[in-house]
Amino acid sequence: MAKKVGIVGATGSIGTQALDVISKYRDSFQLVFLTAHTNVRKLKELARRFSVERIALSGTDELEGKDGFDIYFGRKGLEEIVEDTKPDVVLVASSGNIGVFPVLKAIELGIDVALANKETLVSFGNVVMKKLSGSTSRLIPVDSEHSAIFQLLEGRRHELERIILTASGGPFRNWSLEQMEKATVEDALKHPTWKMGRKITVDSATLMNKVLELVEAYWLFGTRSIDIVIHPQSIVHSFIRLKDGSLLAHMGFPDMRVPIAYALSYPERLEGVDQVSHPYRFGSLEFYEPDRKRFPALDLGYFVLKKMQWYPTCMNAANEEAVSMFLEGRIGFLDIVRIVEQTISIMEKRSPSYSTLEELLRVDEESRRIARQLSLEKSK
Ligand code: NDP
Ligand code: MG
Repeated sequence: MAKKVGIVGATGSIGTQALDVISKYRDSFQLVFLTAHTNVRKLKELARRFSVERIALSGTDELEGKDGFDIYFGRKGLEEIVEDTKPDVVLVASSGNIGVFPVLKAIELGIDVALANKETLVSFGNVVMKKLSGSTSRLIPVDSEHSAIFQLLEGRRHELERIILTASGGPFRNWSLEQMEKATVEDALKHPTWKMGRKITVDSATLMNKVLELVEAYWLFGTRSIDIVIHPQSIVHSFIRLKDGSLLAHMGFPDMRVPIAYALSYPERLEGVDQVSHPYRFGSLEFYEPDRKRFPALDLGYFVLKKMQWYPTCMNAANEEAVSMFLEGRIGFLDIVRIVEQTISIMEKRSPSYSTLEELLRVDEESRRIARQLSLEKSK
């Protein structure tokens, strides 16, 4: 029987790759809703192409011209569309904090969640995991590293000694600090191996993406024993080390459609999703320790991983603001991590509460305000 799927963030990089998977496996899936933030034209075009009647726009309140669609609006709209369509699995592939709302609604209804949106776990991990523990929903990661670890760990969670996340090293892997100080937006957007949205591509250049993934891994797999290894070819999507010292790797050419397909079909596996990966074609693979001096995001990330509480929420919010200031050309590349560090120091003095969604949303808001202020001071 076809699995009913809803996609939050269908117009983005992950969303369109998910649609690609669904169009290739039409008999396995039935699309029941699609959402976007504001790009109504593309959303309607996709909905027509995939014969989906229910769509939502999370960033708009109302709209003229429904063109025969059943349209939901705003944050509430994302919750309502999940409730009204009751899919078997919701793929949450929007960017931004708003991803947490359809995730919590799906968990409340016992619906599985295929999670690409990083903010959901990084900023609201304790709230999401608490809700998940009392639900029949399964949370299946889409991020390539976490999908790899999730698959490697099946049946062996009790044997895990350590997770080893791979990182491509981004476009500045071999750049000096002096060169990075002058890096342009164009330089930062040239990712060597993955094609992704703009914000996450900048995060890959600072290695902040890997730091967000540390926090995601903590919530998904319940351990702080996580190393990061630079692997420029992005063939190994991550390793786990078992208690006897055995290392297991998950490999393949970089292609997000593979983890997306696995998350959508879980616990089944589709046939022939990746038809090109073979060790004959991989060439040489390199692995080395990251340089913490040139990539200060890493020390910051391990500090945040040790602290947890409100720290990841603050880090994520400050980073998002700093990245958007960098993309607007207002601050330099190295300022991004500096602003995140400074925002955390300022918030530490306020020791905010962090146990509910509302409190975490307040931490997020306050951190954004501080980061924006710091960015504006730098851009003067
Ligand atoms: P894109 O920028 O390509 O797409 C973002 C999607 O979210 C679009 O549908 C967009 O709608 C919507 N959106 C944009 N802004 C907002 C907002 N403020 N609130 C809610 N929705 C919004 O992003 P990606 O597909 O690259 O990434 C999506 C998520 O998946 C991110 O959290 C990212 O970290 C994560 N991820 C991405 C990977 C990748 O390979 N791209 C890998 C692993 C994780 P509209 O078109 O209307 O603007
Ligand atoms: Mg990743």
